[in-house]
Amino acid sequence: MPLACANVRTSEMEVRLPVLLPYRLAHPYDYVATPDASLCPGDYVRVPLGRREAIGVVWDEGKPPPHNAGIRLKAIVEAMPAPRMPEVLRRFVEWVAAYTMTPMGLVLRMTMNIPEALVAPKLAEGLRLSQESLAGPEGLSPKRKQLVDFLVDSGNAPRMKAALARASGVTPAVIEGARKAGLLETVALPPPPFVQPDTERQAPELSPPQQSAADALKLAITEGGFQPSLLDGVTGSGKTEVYFEAIAHALRLGRQVLVLLPEIALGIQWLMRFEERFGTRPAVWHSELGRAERRRNWRAVAEGEARIVVGARSALFLPFPELGLIVVDEEHDASYKQEEGVIYQARDMAIVRAKLGEFPIVLASATPSLETMRNAEGGRYAHLHLPDRHAGADLPTVRLIDLRKDPPPRGRWLSPTLRAALEQTLKAGEQTMLFLNRRGYAPLTLCRNCGHRFRCPACTAWLVEHRQAGHLLCHHCGFSEPEPAACPACGAEGRLVPCGPGVERLAEEARADFPEARIAIMTSDTIGTAGAAADLVHRMQAGEIDLLVGTQVMAKGYHFPKLTLVGVVDADLGLAGGDLRAGERCYQMLHQVAGRAGREAQPGTAYLQTYLPETPVMQALAQGRRDAFLEAEARSREAEAMPPFGRLAALIVSGVDETAVARYAQRLRQTAPEEKAARVLGPAPAPLAMLRGKHRVRLLVKTGPDTLLQKTLHGWLEASPPPNGVKLQVDIDPYSFL
Ligand code: ADP
Ligand code: ZN
Repeated sequence: MPLACANVRTSEMEVRLPVLLPYRLAHPYDYVATPDASLCPGDYVRVPLGRREAIGVVWDEGKPPPHNAGIRLKAIVEAMPAPRMPEVLRRFVEWVAAYTMTPMGLVLRMTMNIPEALVAPKLAEGLRLSQESLAGPEGLSPKRKQLVDFLVDSGNAPRMKAALARASGVTPAVIEGARKAGLLETVALPPPPFVQPDTERQAPELSPPQQSAADALKLAITEGGFQPSLLDGVTGSGKTEVYFEAIAHALRLGRQVLVLLPEIALGIQWLMRFEERFGTRPAVWHSELGRAERRRNWRAVAEGEARIVVGARSALFLPFPELGLIVVDEEHDASYKQEEGVIYQARDMAIVRAKLGEFPIVLASATPSLETMRNAEGGRYAHLHLPDRHAGADLPTVRLIDLRKDPPPRGRWLSPTLRAALEQTLKAGEQTMLFLNRRGYAPLTLCRNCGHRFRCPACTAWLVEHRQAGHLLCHHCGFSEPEPAACPACGAEGRLVPCGPGVERLAEEARADFPEARIAIMTSDTIGTAGAAADLVHRMQAGEIDLLVGTQVMAKGYHFPKLTLVGVVDADLGLAGGDLRAGERCYQMLHQVAGRAGREAQPGTAYLQTYLPETPVMQALAQGRRDAFLEAEARSREAEAMPPFGRLAALIVSGVDETAVARYAQRLRQTAPEEKAARVLGPAPAPLAMLRGKHRVRLLVKTGPDTLLQKTLHGWLEASPPPNGVKLQVDIDPYSFL
């Protein structure tokens, strides 16, 4: 229950309190509370809203109600029995809302989208022997006697009905009967407490560079205050071990810790390592979590019971009362950008959160983003280096295969060189990873008779054949149809051909060439559940798989000791499209993939099949010249005043009615601010000109680095709101150029 706070009024007067509600609202609404309600900023309260009630947060200090009696404010109904929202989280919500140009209520919603966490937990019911029956009553039926004996023998610890039935070997009906007869009583079962991480467990001995990086982080934590660090180390250099030391230190000092990971698939090995180091698992937070666990974890964070949380980007909005360290692992990863709902960059917002909370933050990567590198070089972030792989393992050798000179045979995808390397690796009993960032069997299906191509009815996209599942699938909207036997356009049978490879087709080619090899496919389709992902990782670790064929889900973070060969089937794939960061992202992705090879004793090799061996990206990869590559990227962005040398926002106009969309986009263009303030490019159809049945047009707004981009946009967009049926989305610092 809320305690009284400093501003509680003792006078008779009612208090006027601003309450922010988790809806599309730009500001809090005022409500009144009686003076004895003792409400404070941060309290969750139930208030009337229209004809319903809603739960919101008391946003700021109270004021006396207006003298003007004409205004009738509604009264707060009740305070919710939940820990107060910390002040710093309220300021963070305001900051994110202003920066992303999102109504504040929608940002608030991300912090409290688990309403049942705001009421006292409903405890499960446990059953145990009642006082009278502890002595062991006479004349019981054999089944009841079995039940009573079991409970007496096990110390009469209460259990839930199903668990009791299982443990004692009687049916739930027997238990129910015993309860009705008064043999058993019901007691509330509190959830098992969180096991706290043990910071004193044996940690590995750090190498001198690891130790000095860990010491720097620990010092920053001891000193407190905002202090961002870039932990810049090659793949396998022990970045995780180093930040584990920092985590242990922060936990010892009584701070809460948040670790952000790009994708939860990465979490399996990570969680196992964490458990090895700290003797327990951390609280986790991601979108797949079940409601009960969400509720429990949210509450445990708010109450300070959960000291460490590992999560996806949304974990940033949890109500930590004592957050004192954030680690953003793989900080360059594009999945930190949320593209739907509130559009935000979680790594950037994590920096803001640390600044508002005045504590250190660690960004870890082997391939830091250009933005982060600039901050490190400019001295705004501490730059900690781990130059070598742990225990003297070498970085993999990267070789380019020029597909113009060394092409695969017709209808196949592995060049002779890569195929020979694969054969050799299999013979040596080592593991191989073939990387192709394309799910399914083939990215396009074509009728050889009439040229018909299968496209999604709702998107500007081809349908991807998924042969194992037996359907054609749109990767953008999920539309699917069964694999057709005949062409729907000309009716010809047996004339449909797959064009291009997906991972299924690649695995098929490998199976045909190496029938003895144990081959597995790793994509978001095959590791859809955490269990399936863990199983695949275990089999790979145990050496039960010789060849893993997969997409980017297998590129990140994994450590497989016997993996020595990585083959990238189409290294150019990431370079297509007009994405500002295409080169940088392609570099990061391929470097990560290559970095899976040779992480222990045996050295690794990565082959990149490419038609563009002379491009800077491929050259940098082959020569291991990361910093020179980033430098060149930086220069070309500087020349065009693109981020981080200028600021960028995308305005995406979408709607079912193509003309209305085009007309509104034109109007935006015409009402755009003067060239001095901002350069507006477009409108142009987005590359995915249609998505889920909606037409999409995009404008790009570019300003200088010191312009208040949001302010410029605000006045302009306020004056030209979209008509009904047309949607305008603002994407500050856009990443996706789909
Ligand atoms: P990164 O996060 O930089 O990719 P990791 O922390 O995963 O690197 O380290 C790679 C491997 O080396 C892991 O298996 C890790 O346990 C091991 N390792 C790193 N540093 C040490 C150390 N000081 N002592 C023992 N093992 C270490
Ligand atoms: Zn589609």
